Order: sequence, then C-alpha cells, then structure tokens
Amino acid sequence: MLDLTISGSMAKKLDGKKLAKEIENRLKEEIATNLSIAGRPPGLAVLRVGDDAASGVYVANKEKACARIGMKSFGSHIQGETSTGKLAEVINELNQNENIDGILLQLPVPVGIDDALLLKVIDPSKDADGLHTLNLGRLLKGEIGPRSCTPAGIMALLSRNKINLEGKRVVVIGRSILVGQPMALMLQAANATVTVAHSKTKNLTELTKEAEILVVAAGKAQMIGKEHIRPDAVVVDVGIHRVPCETLNVAKPTYKLCGDVRSGEVESIASALSPVPGGVGPMTVAMLLVNTVSRWQEHCGLSLTLKDLLP
Ligand code: NAD
Repeated sequence: MLDLTISGSMAKKLDGKKLAKEIENRLKEEIATNLSIAGRPPGLAVLRVGDDAASGVYVANKEKACARIGMKSFGSHIQGETSTGKLAEVINELNQNENIDGILLQLPVPVGIDDALLLKVIDPSKDADGLHTLNLGRLLKGEIGPRSCTPAGIMALLSRNKINLEGKRVVVIGRSILVGQPMALMLQAANATVTVAHSKTKNLTELTKEAEILVVAAGKAQMIGKEHIRPDAVVVDVGIHRVPCETLNVAKPTYKLCGDVRSGEVESIASALSPVPGGVGPMTVAMLLVNTVSRWQEHCGLSLTLKDLLP
C-alpha cells in the first residue's frame, strides 16, 4: 500500500539489535570474571521437538548467542513421534544435571504433545523462559525470579531509550501468557496505567488512539496502521511474520519479515518505533541469556548483579 502521510520527523528507532549486543557484552564479562569462583560456565539446555523449520532457526540463533558469551549449550533435538511422558523424562534428566542452569522448551511443540504440562515439569529454578506457574506468580507479586523473555526485553528497550512509564497510558494488544499478560504486569509494576486489548475488544481504534505507549502483540501481520496511533506515541511491534515479496519470478518466491504494525505509515506519526526485524526479537534472545546467567549466579552462590534487567 502506498503511504501518503506527510510529516517532518521520523520516529526514533528502538534498536533492539544494538541493546542486545550491549547486554551480551555485559554478560560475557560477568561470566569471565566469575568463572573461576563458580568452577563452571553457565549452561542452557534448549529442547527442540520435531522439525518445525522456524524453530530450527530460533534454536540455532540461541545456541550461537550462548557461544558468544561463554555459556555452554546443551542442545537436545527429539523426534516428533514422541510422547509427553518421554519428554517429561528428558526434562527431569536436565533438571538433575548440575551443569545446567536454564532449560527452555522451544514452542510450538508438535500436535498431541502437552506443552502446558511440560512447562510445569521444568524445575522453576532452571526456568530460562520465565513461563513456569511459580515464576509467573513471582512476577505478579513483584518477587525476584526469571522473567518472561519478550516482555522483559521490551522493558529493557524502553528503559534504555529513556521512555518514562510512570503515569503513562499504555495499551497492550494481546493477552497471551507468553507476551501480553506478563507485559501488562511489568508495565503496571513500573506505574503505567495499562489497558489490555484482545480479540473480543470492541472499538480497538478508539482505545489505541489514547495510548501514549502502544505494545502490539496480536500476531496479525500489519494490522495496526496510522488510524490507530496517537501523535507522538511510542509503538512497540512484537509481531513477527514471514511474508512473500512481490516478485516476477513465481517459481522462486522470496520472503521478507514484517510485524503487526504497518511501519511505513506509523513512523511519521509515532515518536519511537521498534523495527521488525531488529527490535523485540534480539531482545528476547538477550533476556533468555540474562535469565540463565542469573540462575547460574544463584546456583553457584555468586552475587545477583542483573536485577536491573529482571523487571
Ligand atoms: P498469541 O496468538 O498467543 O496471542 C495473540 C493475542 O492477540 C491474543 O490474546 C488475541 O486475543 C489477541 N488478538 C488477536 N487478534 C486481535 C485483534 N484483531 N484485536 C485485538 N487483539 C487481538 O500470540 P503471542 O504468542 O502472544 O505472539 C504475538 C505475536 O508476537 C506473534 O506474531 C508472535 O510471532 C510474536 N512474538 C514475537 C517474539 C519476538 O521475539 N519478536 C516473541 C514472542 C512472540
């Protein structure tokens, strides 16, 4: 769609790629400094089930990130034809392994596997994704613990860009346990006034137009455009979609990534916008590392130095 919006300034880019790199450097130094006291590096086990292609890419990215900071990764790739019971046994073995500080079950798992049950089997003190019931309860009560990676990454991105949340009107689109719900809790803990919109919300445009900060996690490609945005709003685009590019070569289609936001329309109205790719995605991986290094600090009796990144 041709964007005819005319405006002077463009939104500031909320650069997740750059901040994720800074956080990685901080973690790398933290690990190197304390390695001899701890006696071992931090360890992360990423459990991948089946052959979902996108999951394969995400897992490879996470393992590369571990290697960059000096964290050991314990990859486990299980065939799709397995059972919830067998996977629970694998997780229990990882729970017992003293070299592992964080365990991550890569979602989605194949149809027929009970991921909710498996997330409960992960030892809450090794919960790299912060999705265990106990850790979500800790978030609700403001107690320290591993935090859900995507919303924690967004909080770090807002803080690094000096976006004050106190008293701000924030709308979060999406109420999933992975993103929307923990996002709303973290924003409220930072004294924002938060409204959560979802698929049954009426008059979404009226609601989003009031938002000084809008977090979009609906999982619908390019659903949010200029009609939804209050002038000078901060817009965080969580969605990530692989869409075909217009091409003359039908036999060889090419793809690009886009978010839930029509960035071309919004960037001339918003004061800040997170890009896709390079915004929330890299921050999610960085927070996975933060959770795991923080677990390592606790397991090895080191001081907990990452509290500022665990909202
Ligand atoms: P989900 O499908 O579990 O939840 C989507 C939520 O959006 C639901 O609560 C639903 O009620 C709401 N919703 C759907 N359509 C809506 C509409 N028209 N109006 C208002 N609300 C609507 O998705 P999720 O797991 O929360 O992920 C959301 C998006 O974020 C997806 O695109 C996902 O790929 C992406 N994501 C990205 C990262 C990252 O690292 N960048 C991490 C997690 C998720």
